[in-house]
Amino acid sequence: MPVITIHWFRRDLRVQDNTALLAARAETDLLIPLFILDPRLLETSRGGGGPRVAFMRDGLRALAASLQQQGSHLVLRQGEPLGVLQRLIQQTGASRLVYNRDYSPYARQRDRQVVEALRGDGLTVETFQDQALHEYKAILTDQGTPYQVFTPYKKRWFALEKPRPQPLEGALPPLPSALATQAHLLEHISATPAPEPIAEAGEEAAHARLDAFAAQGMAAYAEARNLLAEDGTSRLSPYLRWGMLSIRQAYAKADLETHGGEVWASELAWRDFYQMVLAHHPRVLHQSYRPEYDQIQWQGDEADFGAWQRGETGFPVVDAAMRQLRATGWMHNRARMIVASFLCKDLLLDWRLGEAYFMQGLLDGDTAANNGGWQWAAGTGTDAAPYFRIFNPTTQGEKFDPQGTYIRRWVPELADVPARFIHQLQKAPQRAALNYPQPMVDHQQQRKQALAMYQVAVKGGGGQAEA
Ligand SMILES: Cc1cc2nc3c(=O)[nH]c(=O)nc-3n(C[C@H](O)[C@H](O)[C@H](O)COP(=O)(O)OP(=O)(O)OC[C@H]3O[C@@H](n4cnc5c(N)ncnc54)[C@H](O)[C@@H]3O)c2cc1C
Repeated sequence: MPVITIHWFRRDLRVQDNTALLAARAETDLLIPLFILDPRLLETSRGGGGPRVAFMRDGLRALAASLQQQGSHLVLRQGEPLGVLQRLIQQTGASRLVYNRDYSPYARQRDRQVVEALRGDGLTVETFQDQALHEYKAILTDQGTPYQVFTPYKKRWFALEKPRPQPLEGALPPLPSALATQAHLLEHISATPAPEPIAEAGEEAAHARLDAFAAQGMAAYAEARNLLAEDGTSRLSPYLRWGMLSIRQAYAKADLETHGGEVWASELAWRDFYQMVLAHHPRVLHQSYRPEYDQIQWQGDEADFGAWQRGETGFPVVDAAMRQLRATGWMHNRARMIVASFLCKDLLLDWRLGEAYFMQGLLDGDTAANNGGWQWAAGTGTDAAPYFRIFNPTTQGEKFDPQGTYIRRWVPELADVPARFIHQLQKAPQRAALNYPQPMVDHQQQRKQALAMYQVAVKGGGGQAEA
């Protein structure tokens, strides 16, 4: 009897340097490269129908083509994962399942059920660490507890040897004969792409972007990464989110001899860090990392949420960022921090609203990084930003988009406003003629209210810094 192995693709949509796929190939006669269209993945509330799913669909097409080049085919099935796997095993006589581990609470619960049921049925199930450079249990304090602060975590992270990428050489084993691939299921995924997607899906496009960034962007990254109008960051996040690029392939290009390369590598450490936080504390998905912050009585008016989503707040840098998200499915990191702070500390709305909205619109929407980013900005999370450090949307714009190039790019109503007025529209002679809203709130007033709101929750309060 030939050994038949199923490789279950999830967040690893690539053939190169795929830990579980390499392991699958090593000990099998026939291989079923499977992707399951889980109805949960397609749910509207988590971005189903939206740009991230469209990006995934395109990535699956690219994966199918790569597998074909390796002598194999992508097999698609739709349905609840355990049932799909059981039916496929029954149909094919597969005796082994392999996959790369995923750390989101939903994935872990799903995988626990799958492992328990299939091992109970006598199947061999092997799982692999692939998604992080260092898995969540690998970096702990001297007391054996998870780190709560990034800087000491990062120190340990950098000190550890990093796994190298493993290329796939030679063909993959064939599919069991007569197994339907059901490739048509891809055509049935209904999802609307972003109008101007930031990235083209697939492994090949990911490598082209990585190579371009390594050659042209990395050296200047430390300075350019905060400038909103520059192409100063790698824009690899959608690829890393879907595993069209492995984290080892990305890290291998970080030139640690340069300051830019080192700062960039530390962003990859943030990625591991937030995966670690979510894996150790799945409750952060619904609750503040620091429980006292769940006492906050958010005082904003949810009717304001729509203006924030549409990019019609009257704060140019906030509006530019929100429109960049809608147009491209991506937002600059500095802009993410600005709009998140604005939602929580100017509109006084719960960070969970913004977190959910980001998950719907981002190609890179990732439970761990998104939750970590929102809790950081709201001041409820693991790290540095204390709640009283409130971003001023005007000075953030002046600092990180001094000429207003980013604003003019995404807010065409302001295309003709000169640089000296773009952050101070109230002083612009043409203000009355602009078809652009007045600021929806008074920042200084909201800032005071935010401080009071947070202070009541954490009883004691603190300083008065403004960033
Ligand atoms: C409110 C908020 C929400 C966010 N939501 C997400 C999200 O859903 N998915 C996501 O991948 N990132 C998220 N981030 C982190 C960060 O904004 C993006 O990873 C980054 O903008 C992606 O652009 P890039 O690939 O050019 O990054 P680069 O600057 O080139 O960094 C390289 C890679 O490092 C990782 N990375 C960088 N910064 C962070 C970070 N702070 N946390 C975790 N990983 C990081 C990403 O994988 C990124 O692709 C969020 C940040 C904030 C403040």
